Amino acid sequence: MAGLSFILIGSNLGQRETIINQSIKMMSERCGEVYAVSSLYETEPWGFTAEQSFLNCVVALRTEKSPHALLEELMKIEKDLGRERHSVEGYESRPIDLDILYFDDKIINDDDLIVPHPRLHKRRFTLTPLCDVAADFIHPVFKKSNKELLNNCEDFSEVKLYKS
Ligand code: ADP
Ligand code: MG
Repeated sequence: MAGLSFILIGSNLGQRETIINQSIKMMSERCGEVYAVSSLYETEPWGFTAEQSFLNCVVALRTEKSPHALLEELMKIEKDLGRERHSVEGYESRPIDLDILYFDDKIINDDDLIVPHPRLHKRRFTLTPLCDVAADFIHPVFKKSNKELLNNCEDFSEVKLYKS
């Protein structure tokens, strides 16, 4: 049976909106059926200073892949869209970042994959687009809906609707 996954897309380097749209197309060609896409939001960079702010959105994906196979394909898409990984601590500017937020109600704690994403409940820039596509989806660890997590979120950084 197909799995239901939610992916956070972020970009703060280059042609942000174009790269995000390309990543959505590549996910639909290579990972499964993208059946919902949130609005696009603009957010200030988190934990570091950068020249451009972040654009973020969330897609809902129906996939036949396993969680690890999905992660592997997402990392290939990041690479194909020009992402290079540097060995710096913490955050850095990137043309594309694809994070698995949920995969069904699975709880995974492996070295290379943690699901639900360990920081999703702490970040308004994740919860805001996530609520566009899955407000009532229940976080399998906290047993709260995304809407409740957003209402209780203590991150008050600005997340505004992006108009291209
Ligand atoms: P971040 O997304 O935290 O800014 P990276 O995109 O560089 O950082 O990801 C670093 C590593 O995080 C990846 O190599 C991947 O193995 C790991 N990882 C763990 N859990 C997840 C997840 N849920 N989604 C995506 N990557 C994850
Ligand atoms: Mg990532």
